[in-house]
Amino acid sequence: MRYAKSVADLVGNTPLVQLTRVTDGIAATVLAKVEYFNPGSSAKDRIARNIIDAAERDGLLRPGGTIVEPTSGNTGVGLALIAQQRGYRMIFVVPDKFAGEKVAVLKAYGAEVVITETSVPPEDPRSYYSVSDRLAREIPGAFKPNQFANQNGPRGHYETTGPEIWRDTDGRVTHFVAGIGTGGTITGTGRYLRDVSHDAVRVIGVDPEGSIYSGGPVHGYLTEGVGEDFWPETYDRTVAHEVVRVPDAESFAMTRRLAREEALLVGGSSGMAVVGALRVARDLPADAVVVVLLPDHGRGYLSKIYDDGWMRARGFDVDAPEPVAEQPEP
Ligand code: PMP
Repeated sequence: MRYAKSVADLVGNTPLVQLTRVTDGIAATVLAKVEYFNPGSSAKDRIARNIIDAAERDGLLRPGGTIVEPTSGNTGVGLALIAQQRGYRMIFVVPDKFAGEKVAVLKAYGAEVVITETSVPPEDPRSYYSVSDRLAREIPGAFKPNQFANQNGPRGHYETTGPEIWRDTDGRVTHFVAGIGTGGTITGTGRYLRDVSHDAVRVIGVDPEGSIYSGGPVHGYLTEGVGEDFWPETYDRTVAHEVVRVPDAESFAMTRRLAREEALLVGGSSGMAVVGALRVARDLPADAVVVVLLPDHGRGYLSKIYDDGWMRARGFDVDAPEPVAEQPEP
């Protein structure tokens, strides 16, 4: 019999799928690494597992311990599923602006969620940083993964994502493209691929327009999970050879095309990464192999990027006619 003992053992070994429609006119092979095949539907399962494994090894997390992290996103889901399977209590601290479906997902896994006020500055005792620090301090046996500083995050990608890409392309990958949030994916995967290829693989980061990684003016943007307004310790600026900048409108249009044309229902940062990958691939010869990482599933974006009304209200083009009143059946 071939089976996993726990869904937590199914993290990683995600497939590569060739993009064939959105790559029209491109000679190079473009392969998507589809991270929604992870049990928590995102690449963040990898760092969750590696951070918890390392904390157990280092004695920071013991049986009956509690994990406290300020997150409402994919990292929370990854931590929740690993923590549950290993018997840890899990507390997430979430700003009230993110309440809703995401919190419901965390609760569904059995996690506790503490909602904090979004409108207070980080140093305020009510802020989500302060509350999570206090809980981690006050609860005996508490451990705070701290995804923006914990080096076991990027290390998880160095040890799994990178080797999987090298193995599945038979060492033929020439370019690796990924969005940058904490920077863990690009730092760990990019560093592995550069190391194993003796620096032959070219690494390209992708950043939403408005974030600091690509160097232009800093302003708000709507692509979730990527970009920052500070430099996290998990991002090593020496790994990517270049960082390209993609506006929300292009990222969202490509996200919708991936669902409609490649049957890949993915999140907005996946569309962003593909825009970056195609810009790079456009100038490459037929023997180039571009691998682009798609971080998460699109189900969490149905009422946003995939919703025509939401898109129009924010000034984004929608490749569909305006809705018309339904005609009664004849
Ligand atoms: N896309 C999504 C949807 C994410 O949740 C994240 C993680 N913040 C990323 C991209 C970026 O990955 P990383 O943090 O490894 O840079």
